[in-house]
Amino acid sequence: MTDATALELLHRVFGYPAFRGPQAEIVDHLAGGGDALVLMPTGGGKSLCYQIPALLRPGVGIVVSPLIALMQDQVDALRQAGVRAAFLNSTLDFAAVVATEKALCTGQLDLLYVAPERLLTERCLNLLDRLAADGQLALFAIDEAHCVSQWGHDFRPEYIQLSILHERYPAVPRIALTATADALTRREILARLGLGEARVFVSSFDRPNIRYTVVDRNNPRRQLLGFLAGHAGAAGIVYCLSRKKVDETAAWLNAQGIAALPYHAGLDTATRTRHQQRFLREEGIVMVATIAFGMGIDKPDVRFVAHLDLPKSLEAYYQETGRAGRDGEPAEAWMTYGLNDVVIHRQRIDESAAGAEQKRIERGKLDALLAWCETAECRRTRLLAYFGETREDRCGNCDTCLEPPELWDGSIAAQKAMSAILRTGQRFGAGHLIDLLRGKTTERIRQLGHDSLPTFGVGADLDEAGWRSVFRQLLAAGLLHADAQSFGALKLTDAARPVLKGESLLHLRRQRKQKSALARRHKTAAATPTGSDETLFEALRAWRAEQAKAQGVPAYVIMHDKTLHELAARRPASADELLDVPGIGQAKAERYGAEVLEIVAAMAIAWPVQDSAVFGRRQF
Ligand code: ADP
Ligand code: ZN
Repeated sequence: MTDATALELLHRVFGYPAFRGPQAEIVDHLAGGGDALVLMPTGGGKSLCYQIPALLRPGVGIVVSPLIALMQDQVDALRQAGVRAAFLNSTLDFAAVVATEKALCTGQLDLLYVAPERLLTERCLNLLDRLAADGQLALFAIDEAHCVSQWGHDFRPEYIQLSILHERYPAVPRIALTATADALTRREILARLGLGEARVFVSSFDRPNIRYTVVDRNNPRRQLLGFLAGHAGAAGIVYCLSRKKVDETAAWLNAQGIAALPYHAGLDTATRTRHQQRFLREEGIVMVATIAFGMGIDKPDVRFVAHLDLPKSLEAYYQETGRAGRDGEPAEAWMTYGLNDVVIHRQRIDESAAGAEQKRIERGKLDALLAWCETAECRRTRLLAYFGETREDRCGNCDTCLEPPELWDGSIAAQKAMSAILRTGQRFGAGHLIDLLRGKTTERIRQLGHDSLPTFGVGADLDEAGWRSVFRQLLAAGLLHADAQSFGALKLTDAARPVLKGESLLHLRRQRKQKSALARRHKTAAATPTGSDETLFEALRAWRAEQAKAQGVPAYVIMHDKTLHELAARRPASADELLDVPGIGQAKAERYGAEVLEIVAAMAIAWPVQDSAVFGRRQF
């Protein structure tokens, strides 16, 4: 393959017409022997950045990855494209290890995926020494490179020892890749992996195909069901904070006829593995999970990530929602959030064993997330700004862009709310304060004598949901804080003074009505990508499911949804037309071409009933 150019390989092997973003430059740089650090969001297309140079350079590319569970699928997908790939990790028995090592030493591999602990064994390093001596090491790719960071969640001690690659094989180019954006992690990767000379490629962290929506929580189950109705038959993840809520939500969804599975750290390993496998291999499974589920979920066709509870920071939110839409097709990040979330998170932070400084940082992160939830600006712009990326325009693919929230002058309402808080001694949560403002004579109001306060009933003009929205926005704006020590009692902060005294105006966003235009749009816009013919798409999907089953691989390893949609939209009629379809390279065209063309042709006969009516060419 040494004579081929990068672009030829992209066409022939992977079936794609063009490189995306910085891919071409990275491939060139690496193929020419340079080192690189690549920061690219999930779904950005990191794999091709090392797969193509590995094919261009003599010998085998070694890919180090901690995600053992994924190696089989990655290798299967490459083999489908005609690439000679294999993996070495603890899931292989001895005979398979020996066979792979033999293939490695006899020049029969283009790519080898290795777990870091395996790579660092004397046995493996000796094999690499032999390859290096013959000039048969194409490159080292260090995937999930943020695992070297001792401060991150995914720290792997073996990753630090990977600096050995640099010392032992100085002539072999290395590429480190991660979807983690922050500057601190970046510096750690460069330092610990000895990548001082590497060129750094930073992509935008925008995920344009993901639509962001945040809804006020009132009836979360009904809201979730409404959201899922727009994603019937699609795979997705529903995140909850607690194990109990995961179990209950999964059971409830099943009772509603939705195939849902629970996943959390309280389930035994076998159950967790089984559920994960089903999620990866079957179509249309909804995984209800705590954040224990996530690392290494490389499934490309996750169509939605729903949060029933507020995550702990915008970083966490970005990472969790980033699991949707890796294939670039429309996907949704949807969240319900309420006042109670704030109290729970505050409590968690206050009661944790962390030091004062750490707690201060965590509170800051929570506040930033709250402000994001309540923003009337474009959510994408705000999200990217949080990660240091600026953009001017509105994205047109988030709830605040699609249905800009109405703003109103909430100064008076804020004053009423604050006055209710002050007059009751800053000892009560939003529920009681709202009763007071709305003039409800509950048992508690009467016992406390709150019905004789001047604030009693001054807020009858807003309904309960409206008041909840006001309190949330006051919290998000930092005018109030929820005191976890006194069970979420709302208190005024110093910033509240000017508003309370009427010295500054406060614009609030209006509470959305339940059945908004946006909710209706969800049903259509996000569910049908690329204008393809749905019947043909379904036929191709059924064919793919059979193939996947026969070969014992996940459906997306055969062909991605995106490729099926392209097929359904373009309706290729010849082998040449088939090769023009993005995602179909030479190997897939040879292997599946005849069957795919047959399905397209068969559907074409049933299809143009309208044409025949118009042109009168055919009789049916
Ligand atoms: P990452 O590892 O960055 O999360 P992947 O390498 O898995 O992303 O790529 C994400 C998806 O984008 C895959 O479906 C891949 O086939 C597709 N892809 C990558 N590069 C291109 C390209 N140049 N043209 C079309 N599709 C691409
Ligand atoms: Zn937007």
